[in-house]
Amino acid sequence: MPNVVFYRKYRPQDFSNIQDQDSIVKTLTNAILNNKIAHAYLFTGPRGTGKTSTARILAKAINCLDRKDKEFEPCNKCQSCTDINSGSSLDVVEFDAATNTGIDEIRALQDNAKIKPVNGKYKIYIIDEAHQLSKSAYGALLKILEEPPEYIIFILATTDPEKMLKTILSRVQRFDFKKLSIDKIVKKLESILKKEKIEYELPALTLIAKESDGGMRDAESMLGQITTISKKVTLEVVENTIGGIGQNKIADFVDILIEKDNMELFKYVDDLDSNGYNLEEFLKSLIEYMQNLLIIKVSEKLDSILKKELSNDFILKLKKQAEKTDINFVKNSIKKLLDVQGYFNVVLNQRLPIEMAILEITQD
Ligand SMILES: [Zn+2]
Repeated sequence: MPNVVFYRKYRPQDFSNIQDQDSIVKTLTNAILNNKIAHAYLFTGPRGTGKTSTARILAKAINCLDRKDKEFEPCNKCQSCTDINSGSSLDVVEFDAATNTGIDEIRALQDNAKIKPVNGKYKIYIIDEAHQLSKSAYGALLKILEEPPEYIIFILATTDPEKMLKTILSRVQRFDFKKLSIDKIVKKLESILKKEKIEYELPALTLIAKESDGGMRDAESMLGQITTISKKVTLEVVENTIGGIGQNKIADFVDILIEKDNMELFKYVDDLDSNGYNLEEFLKSLIEYMQNLLIIKVSEKLDSILKKELSNDFILKLKKQAEKTDINFVKNSIKKLLDVQGYFNVVLNQRLPIEMAILEITQD
């Protein structure tokens, strides 16, 4: 299955399926209910947070032919809704300013804007990555925004509002989309896999969610990619796909750390370095690993905290490792590892911060 499929196939089609942007959904749906639609909206926020999906849903709801008063969801069945869903609507025009500077589109739009909508009430222009419009495109856009025909609505989406002209910003109603929580991403991935009848390990999904940094689209693409190479979505496959340092590798390192074998530890770090691993990322993962060990040390009954991110087998392994050391060692190690985190920006050799931390830990 090609990896684009998931985010297209499971793209939210109505407001109730937009994840984690509750206040935005509330404001927009209230505006629809009260018939207070603005002429220009700006949706800002990191990639994959639902800006374009929300723009399309808003466009559908506004133009839906079957939507009753006191309803705000698009029906997704009428001619207008299905045209928008299939990208063939004459009333809803979408273009990406990143692929071209937009001047041709905006000029065409100027002409096109004079023609009234065909099916729906409004003509809606969705412009993705709007900050990349050229100066002349901006000029043309501004002209329309200054005196927009009654039936025109703009929805500008951007990851970088700072780069937009103030004159544009002052004419739009702005909504800031935030990164999605790991929980929400995991839930969505779970629901996709259940519908697709694909087996998975929960910790694998958590890792994908973390790696996608709050962006649903990235998470869904990564999931799609993984399902093309493996029948089951396991933590191991995800770790290998991401190319990060897997938990097992970190577990080996911590074994040596507990033995305080400096020579082996230095060799280990050099090995990671020569194999192109990002040592700053390694340090972060190591700190996280030690934190899990600390949790086990405080009480084995706390392992429910770990179940979201680690497989049961791995938690068992962690418990065995915890038996070999004491809570002070773990606590002290975390402190020393945190201490060197800031060094990465100032040293030329990326091994040094970790080597310093190793000596601090083992010589204590
Ligand atoms: Zn409809």
